[in-house]
Amino acid sequence: MIEVSNMSKYYADYPAVLDVSFSIKAGETVGLLGPNGAGKSTTMKVLTGFTPPTDGNVSIGGFDIIKNSFEARKLLGYLPENVPLYLDMTVTEYLVFMAKIRGMNESVNKRVNEVIEITSLGDYKDTLIGKLSKGYRQRTGISQAIIHNPKVLILDEPTIGIDPVQVVETRNLIKSLEGEHTLILSSHILPEVTSICKRILVIHEGKIVADDTPDNLSKRLQSTNVCEIEVSGSNKLDIIKLFRKESYIIDIRSKPSTNSSYNTFIIETSSNESVEQKIAKLVVENSLGLRKLIPLSLSLEEIFLQLTSD
Ligand code: ADP
Repeated sequence: MIEVSNMSKYYADYPAVLDVSFSIKAGETVGLLGPNGAGKSTTMKVLTGFTPPTDGNVSIGGFDIIKNSFEARKLLGYLPENVPLYLDMTVTEYLVFMAKIRGMNESVNKRVNEVIEITSLGDYKDTLIGKLSKGYRQRTGISQAIIHNPKVLILDEPTIGIDPVQVVETRNLIKSLEGEHTLILSSHILPEVTSICKRILVIHEGKIVADDTPDNLSKRLQSTNVCEIEVSGSNKLDIIKLFRKESYIIDIRSKPSTNSSYNTFIIETSSNESVEQKIAKLVVENSLGLRKLIPLSLSLEEIFLQLTSD
């Protein structure tokens, strides 16, 4: 349903999204997860034809978002980060207006009522949008995104800035839309994505650093051993090079050290090997002073942090 190949988006010479490729099947619920500034909104703006990619191709339902923009956009419902609401319209007036913009002529009132029912806006249907709380404005935003029953629904940080009770209600609302639409949701909140989505694309500094189910992301963490070491001597890059030569080391990353005379690293090793001894031996043989060597167990939250830290 959605094909993104080698897509990059530059703002002047700054690559907000860099060479990203993924595809999403009809009916999938996918979370785009990443810290602020990772490139989530930019990716969504390109997917929705709001802004063109600098490089690469994006197609929605087989229609190229640039060459067949109109056909592609007909298939999309979009809740942007800042929802363009008209504060002096009532909820119903706004949804009728949006339905007409979407080219609907028949059964507009019936569909508006249906959507108001789905998003539980019944008590506020004649209220001016300017008088609604942030949570109800967000529901109005979601209502306009689904008014034309789009095949693809793209929601950019749908719960940002709303109170905790409404966050839960909004998440439930989004969950209830699952299956009806191919759904992409962006968030910087891990539990939000894991509670709604069956697949997670982790984006960091404009690149996809993981693409998996929440379960597999957890398993991936459990199927590897991770330990933290703190050593003195040599420089960071030399130490990293030294460890990378070892076949049982999957990855090594430096992290800020609490003591400036030491370098701290997180080392990921293949499982079923007792590697702590090997690491200790390697450190001693290379005359690095070992200060700390501790095995770590990672939660999904920590995995996310690992994937998105340098
Ligand atoms: P996210 O949605 O993950 O927070 P964004 O896609 O909004 O990230 O931004 C990605 C990067 O691109 C950030 O560094 C941001 O400052 C930059 N950026 C976003 N929009 C613009 C713009 N219109 N002009 C210049 N830089 C931008």
